[in-house]
Amino acid sequence: MGRLENKVAVVTGASSGMGEAIAKLFASEGASVVAMARRKERLDDLIKEIEAGGGKATAVAGDVTIEEDVQNSIKTAVDEYGKLDIVISNAGLLDQMTPVADVTDDLWDAVFDVNVKGPMRFFRAAIPLMEEAGGGTFVTVSSLGGIKCGIAGSTYIASKHAVLGLAKSVAYMYADKNIRSNVIAPGAVMTEMGQTSDTSERGMERAQLTMACMPRMGEASEIAQLALFLASDESSLVNGAVVTADAGWGAG
Ligand code: NDP
Repeated sequence: MGRLENKVAVVTGASSGMGEAIAKLFASEGASVVAMARRKERLDDLIKEIEAGGGKATAVAGDVTIEEDVQNSIKTAVDEYGKLDIVISNAGLLDQMTPVADVTDDLWDAVFDVNVKGPMRFFRAAIPLMEEAGGGTFVTVSSLGGIKCGIAGSTYIASKHAVLGLAKSVAYMYADKNIRSNVIAPGAVMTEMGQTSDTSERGMERAQLTMACMPRMGEASEIAQLALFLASDESSLVNGAVVTADAGWGAG
């Protein structure tokens, strides 16, 4: 019996990196997965792979900044699989390591729209359903940069702090409704994120100073294992927690 048998999960940012790893692991543990992101072809490949392994998954091509797409993801879970137990808010956007003196309003708004307002839209849409069903659980992917350090662009760091506060407010506000909300704070993880050369010179220079004390890069599959624990009933007493997954980088 899988650790998520009979559960229905929506995973955002499932077209690559951690979201893709989470979708695959959850399906292999018995969950029915709604995989959401903008790149449809990537999602279609993911669904094929999950189905070939005997799992259940449906793709929703959509953008977490568009309310209708968020609603559609939740509706797909209910229409296809009858309910919604788990939401993994993982989709995220970097800010090219931009220091605050160079931040434009457009950059700030775009990053907050994905990293903070995206999860808020999912909380807002899913909580009434979970309340009615008697419970549910959320896992939000913040960052080590959301709890203690400022090693990235100013907007990204601010957004990852903000989403952590949002997730904690959900944890407390709905604890009496059997709804849990926990946060993963990854250190550096090997994914497509950050594989761009379009970064601020100053931002990169400052960030690189801290690399010497990073024990190692993480793998997306390691984040997926943590998401699995936090999404499953095994973590029934864990609510409002922020769990770092950084090989000890933040302890340095
Ligand atoms: P990836 O770039 O591999 O994945 C990001 C995912 O987010 C993609 O699937 C992308 O899909 C999706 N996404 C981006 N914008 C939107 C949007 N507007 N609507 C829907 N989906 C969107 O990076 P990671 O797997 O590394 O990132 C996952 C999370 O982990 C992010 O929140 C990131 O901030 C966080 N994180 C990453 C770290 C790292 O070192 N990699 C460290 C700490 C935190 P598509 O383009 O198809 O829409």
